[in-house]
Amino acid sequence: MSLPIRYPTASLKPHREESLLSGHLWVFSGALQQPPHWIEPGGLVDVKSATGQFVARGYYNPQTDIAIRILTHNADEAIDAAFLRRRIHSAIELRQVFDLRQTNCYRLVHAEGDGLPGLVVDRYADILVVQISTAGMESLRPLLIDALMEETGVSALLLRNDSQSRRREGLAVEEPIVAAGEVPPQVAVRENGVQFLVDPWQGQKTGFFIDQRDKREALRKYAGYAGNRRILNCFSYTGGFSVYAALTGKETVVTSVDISAPAIEAARQHFTLNGLDPGSHRFLIADVFDYLESARRGGEQFDVVVLDPPAFAKTQSTRTQALKAYRRLNMLGMQVLRPGGILLTCSCSGVVGMDDLLGVLSQAAHGLRRPVQLLESYTHGVDHPINLVMPETAYLKAVFCRVG
Ligand code: SAH
Repeated sequence: MSLPIRYPTASLKPHREESLLSGHLWVFSGALQQPPHWIEPGGLVDVKSATGQFVARGYYNPQTDIAIRILTHNADEAIDAAFLRRRIHSAIELRQVFDLRQTNCYRLVHAEGDGLPGLVVDRYADILVVQISTAGMESLRPLLIDALMEETGVSALLLRNDSQSRRREGLAVEEPIVAAGEVPPQVAVRENGVQFLVDPWQGQKTGFFIDQRDKREALRKYAGYAGNRRILNCFSYTGGFSVYAALTGKETVVTSVDISAPAIEAARQHFTLNGLDPGSHRFLIADVFDYLESARRGGEQFDVVVLDPPAFAKTQSTRTQALKAYRRLNMLGMQVLRPGGILLTCSCSGVVGMDDLLGVLSQAAHGLRRPVQLLESYTHGVDHPINLVMPETAYLKAVFCRVG
């Protein structure tokens, strides 16, 4: 008979175990009766109820508001290499929904959504790009790298631990580190059969906004529909939405706007890579707000407008300000949209919910006295699963609508 698995104990205040029992993965510091003693940030702990019952097991950081992130609700499950392998294996199984001939870049591990808080793994063809955001996951790093390499059989792994949020956890913000194999400066990938080149070293996030795959696919039908040929892609980055739109037909003209010159240059290359003539399209390095103002003044009209801005609010305290910015952006977007045109509007601010985004849209429409028909709404896609009891981890909201 094997001995029960035990870690240092963190005790909850009375009745604070309910959300954990329903599958939530966070314990806020205020819920702790007795913080664990003698543990390094990131150390493993058993969370117990006020009456001493085992509730869950996770890792602890005394420096953060979320004091404990849960890894398992099973008292018999040790947190070791086999545990990591089981979680990674389960994540891989879900991603078998992708036909690799069409799509070979996707999120392989989506933190809480895949039961591995503090860990993001994106797969670009034969390469993994890994981001570790918590001290607890950091302490599992050597086991994790081995488990990822063995379970996926990829050729290389790059650690991109460059997020500023690591500081809150007491972790260093690092330069990219090659943890296994060789990582080229660019990786060629396919997404829904469309070709892209991803820069895993310096590209934003881990190189590409793979969370927009399903929205890009959905856009195709609108770019082809009702003679919609004038497409405006605001905050285009490397032209993800732009290439999909341009591929809908020879008469389609896409305007891509981004403030980043390297992103716009990459967008141009992506057109060429997909057999499109960049000379037939427009690529603008500009602030979207300035561009939209001048396009409106110049009376420009588009059939389809995409608004995919960076997160305007990173914290609750900036939320009100952010909602104003979303309202202004959506109003400007509608003003360059022909009556009956299609608007795709997105928010990747975690603190801005779908209701907030819809509220902003109706305010913008009301201000312009234009009717809006809601057509489709999206989150991040199947490779960014959302833990049902943690809707607060769903950061991306996207809505297609027709503006009359
Ligand atoms: N839609 C893109 C991802 C957009 S990410 C895709 O599918 O890949 C947000 C982009 O907005 C970044 O490329 C960033 O450079 C750009 N950006 C941020 N602020 C901007 C501004 N004020 N004007 C124009 N672009 C901006």
